[in-house]
Amino acid sequence: MIDLRLLRDEPETVRASQRARGESDSVVDDLLRADEQRRAAVGRFEALRAEQKQLGKQMPRANGDERTALLARTKELSVEVKTAEAAVSDAEAALRRAQFAVPNVVEEGAPPGGEDDFVVLREVGTRPTIENPRDHLEIGEALRAIDVERGAKVSGSRFYYLTGVGALLQLGLLQLAIAQAVEYGFIPAITPALVKPESMEGTGFLGAHASEVYRLEADDLFLVGTSEVPLAAYHSQEILKLGDEPLRYAGWSSCFRREAGSYGKDTRGIMRVHQFDKVEMFSYCRPEQAHEEHLRLLAWEEEMLAKVEIPYRVIDVAAGDLGSSAARKYDCEAWVPSQGRYREVTSTSNCTSFQARRLNVRYRDEDGKPQFVATLNGTLATTRWLVPILENHQQPDGSVRIPKALQPYLGGRDVLEPS
Ligand code: AMP
Repeated sequence: MIDLRLLRDEPETVRASQRARGESDSVVDDLLRADEQRRAAVGRFEALRAEQKQLGKQMPRANGDERTALLARTKELSVEVKTAEAAVSDAEAALRRAQFAVPNVVEEGAPPGGEDDFVVLREVGTRPTIENPRDHLEIGEALRAIDVERGAKVSGSRFYYLTGVGALLQLGLLQLAIAQAVEYGFIPAITPALVKPESMEGTGFLGAHASEVYRLEADDLFLVGTSEVPLAAYHSQEILKLGDEPLRYAGWSSCFRREAGSYGKDTRGIMRVHQFDKVEMFSYCRPEQAHEEHLRLLAWEEEMLAKVEIPYRVIDVAAGDLGSSAARKYDCEAWVPSQGRYREVTSTSNCTSFQARRLNVRYRDEDGKPQFVATLNGTLATTRWLVPILENHQQPDGSVRIPKALQPYLGGRDVLEPS
């Protein structure tokens, strides 16, 4: 939810943000109206309550006709107060609905436009020269590391098994990510994969993207698409003790995605699947620290990519592709030789206080007053990373070189040979 004070003081900033996203700014006017209507309803209720109290004070001193008149007004008032109270609840519900319709205000500097309007910030690493590169599935099958046939047999399309060195490679990658996060002071966390609707809604995943989420109807629970959800909801309804440093968690979870709108896209291998594993960084901090923290999360993502020796580029995601919660987003895209292009492997978002307002996560400022925190998230490693790892490190003889940082997790092997 956006800050209503910002909306009242600078409605044009919120309208401009909507335009940068390519979305209608009529929701901003709806929200302004709902805000005014709620304030008017509260004002009316409070005036009636004040009159009620005043009458209560006058009553013991009143006699005769005056008392009769006061009694009649008291009766009327009790009906009017009830009606006004109901009007306040209705206005509050309408305000909440209007607030849910407005996405976060885009950070100044984010490129305007849609999916294709991102700005490339930098390219890092040297792309390997590979003649007729094999794709990750071909390599993975030769290593007996990836089995999509049995994945499809057992669970359907976009499912797979990682076996042998494939399983070790993923576990190693995720452990490497956790080890790096712990080194930088993150609290490692293994999070629930099923959450209540309010957790899903609080993080902004039930709006426009609700069709991407698996719902277990019988239990009214959702399967998370990212541990960002249980990590954001972890401190819901709490007032945090924030020190100088942000409070940081590194969540390890399986992630589930319906990929409803991706029909026909990336149908080969494990690039776009319904279930994958991920280590996610998550920070709670004071709003004024959020910008710096965002750049730190990006730097930690890049450090992991350097450890697995993958060429990549960093993009500044355009406003229309930010999703509802993010004010700014940077993606790292790894070079995928078989496709001859960069593909997204990490994403870090500054959600400012948008999620915290929905989930009611606060801290105490210098004056001891509760204020909403800022929340940020960033990917540190996922199953998808196996794609560029296998493809960029493939050798002409069919083997795959293992980056030094991953070797300890593969029994010290520096190369994987097809079996
Ligand atoms: P997102 O939370 O959508 O920003 O995605 C974060 C990261 O999760 C991506 O950069 C990928 O590494 C990974 N990812 C997202 N969706 C999928 C998917 N359907 N299959 C495999 N990996 C995915």
